[in-house]
Amino acid sequence: MEQDNYRHKGLRKRLIDSLREKGIKDENVLRAMNKVPRHLFLDSSFLEFAYQDKAFPIGSGQTISQPYTVAYQSELLQVKPEEKILEIGTGSGYQSCVLLEMGAKVYTIERQKHLYEKTKALLPQIRYFPKMFYGDGYKGLPAFAPFDKIIITAAAADIPKPLLDQLKPGGILVVPVGPPDLQVMVTLHKNKEGEIVRTAHDTFRFVPMLGNKAKD
Ligand code: SAH
Repeated sequence: MEQDNYRHKGLRKRLIDSLREKGIKDENVLRAMNKVPRHLFLDSSFLEFAYQDKAFPIGSGQTISQPYTVAYQSELLQVKPEEKILEIGTGSGYQSCVLLEMGAKVYTIERQKHLYEKTKALLPQIRYFPKMFYGDGYKGLPAFAPFDKIIITAAAADIPKPLLDQLKPGGILVVPVGPPDLQVMVTLHKNKEGEIVRTAHDTFRFVPMLGNKAKD
């Protein structure tokens, strides 16, 4: 396993400074991202790009999200230590590890078998232990609900109803909503009465959320 050396740490520090300049304010998010060795999530041929603020291919037609996007979604989640967070779209596992570094208990679902297997093998090697599931994230994890926070890291055509049902009162769901070419980042706050308050933020571009018929 490739190490996390002095050079990586320096590049990471610069990336974090650039995220702060781009408007990320939650120091807990920035501190967590400063700890996770992003180069270990990319194929070695992309190593030199790991600390640029860019998305990259991770195989199976999927990408590891741009650091700015990870920071943006993590900030909207308002993560507190010990919270139970459900992530839809494990992908490389990078976002899960950022949430773990913030002290959350992370449950994450991946729809593509190959990616699920690859990430399930990688994360324990670099000492991150989210609870990982293979399946359709649209349905969530009813057996482990409710969750304090839910984050969807693929573009959703609509807001998955089962996920809203699995959110605690007082909880927050963050999701990019819209067609494949452009989505609006949306937060849904469920208040104590169970009512949903919706807020729209900036636009992003995610890979589409796959349905039931996804190929493995
Ligand atoms: N959070 C990831 C980024 C993932 S890209 C990271 O940090 O690297 C989006 C991921 O969502 C892809 O891996 C894709 O396969 C997965 N995905 C798409 N539809 C899904 C679904 N219905 N359920 C679970 N995962 C899904």
